[in-house]
Amino acid sequence: DTHFQILIVGGGNAGISVAAQLLRKDPNLTLAIVEPSDKHYYQPAWTLVGGGEFALEDTIRTEAEVMPERAVWIRDRAVAFVPDQNQVETATSGILTYDYLVVCPGIQLNWGQIKGLPETLGKNGVCSNYAVDQCSYTWETVRNFKGGTALFTSPGTPVKCGGAPQKVMYLSSDHFKRRGILKQTRVEFCTAGGMLFGVKKYAAALEKVVARYGIHLFFRHDLISIDGPQKKVVFKVTDRQGHTTEVTKSFDMIHVTPPQSAPDFVRESPLADAAGWIDVDPHTLRHRHYDNVFGLGDATNTPNAKTGAAVRKQAPVVVENLLAALQHRSLPATYNGYGSCPLVTGIGRLILAEFDYNHEPQESFPFDQARERFSMYQLKKRVLPWMYWNKILKGTA
Ligand code: FAD
Repeated sequence: DTHFQILIVGGGNAGISVAAQLLRKDPNLTLAIVEPSDKHYYQPAWTLVGGGEFALEDTIRTEAEVMPERAVWIRDRAVAFVPDQNQVETATSGILTYDYLVVCPGIQLNWGQIKGLPETLGKNGVCSNYAVDQCSYTWETVRNFKGGTALFTSPGTPVKCGGAPQKVMYLSSDHFKRRGILKQTRVEFCTAGGMLFGVKKYAAALEKVVARYGIHLFFRHDLISIDGPQKKVVFKVTDRQGHTTEVTKSFDMIHVTPPQSAPDFVRESPLADAAGWIDVDPHTLRHRHYDNVFGLGDATNTPNAKTGAAVRKQAPVVVENLLAALQHRSLPATYNGYGSCPLVTGIGRLILAEFDYNHEPQESFPFDQARERFSMYQLKKRVLPWMYWNKILKGTA
């Protein structure tokens, strides 16, 4: 069959969560998930893999294992949306039609936008936690580092987990410190952005962490090219007046966070806003122009931190509103922009940032979460991965 009451594009964190919750509420729905990958990843733990603190294989399961029993898995790539005709085109399975569509294909990593990066990634001390086949090389690089210049970059585009470009730096710095080579190391954070973190309370706490490790901060530094064999990088630097210059730096190791965007097939579709993201109402998560389309996760234009934590709060909103729409009721649920960033600040240390659309803290625990804590590190390393596989993907959290 090629018609479904509910069609979901993307079987990642968001797609599987929404499918599992919908089928729990109504097992008789006909629901399909379009997902090309035969593997499912718990990406938040890649930070710990890069820090030598988590086994890569524990971040990977087969997609078949996480697929809800009653969902139909269409193992294919969506290539185009025709929302006026309730159609999704796929690469090899033809056209699928739906009553309701949920769009959540995640964010696209644009490695090629940094000249020279694809050729040198994974060698010459050039690493990234942003890909499953790369985060082990981060640990290899950090473990074998002998002092010198260690650069950590963050691009000018939106990224998933805005804290991840810093977490890897703090973990690495802690390793250097424990091995007694931090003093012979110049650690630099080079970010295209203008500040350390968007929420004041946590930014202030992170400034202390930066000072503890002696990290040098460079704002408005956007990585544009990299020469692995020569160990040189070029940044486009913008001053406060908006003038740009190019600055070359040398490195002994560099962790790169790639520029990111909405997936091309979303950007080129009628579902996209001017910047390419899925254009949804930030509170109901329904598409602004197509009433039978919902969107969530990293691919939408909602101005929250793009995290799995945000997906956890968005999924039940989409589920409630979609079921209401099916029954021609008004949409009851709203999303407040909650996002969370477990900021790993060293081995066994973590600041649990939680905040909403207004960049106001929304903390879950009855203590000051801006303090570095061992307990919150354990939450990230042990509790959250377990919750992901056993609760979130099962639709019970
Ligand atoms: P994804 O989980 O990425 O899933 C998207 C799915 O869509 C994929 O399965 C993909 O194969 C599929 N897809 C892509 N194209 C198509 C297509 N054309 N057709 C059909 N399917 C398609 N979040 C936190 O909450 N806390 C953290 O500490 C944290 N740390 C992170 C650290 C790193 C290094 C990274 C990379 C991410 C981190 N995140 C963290 C972010 C978190 O992983 C994402 O926000 C979350 O996975 C978003 O869910 P999603 O479903 O939107 O996208």
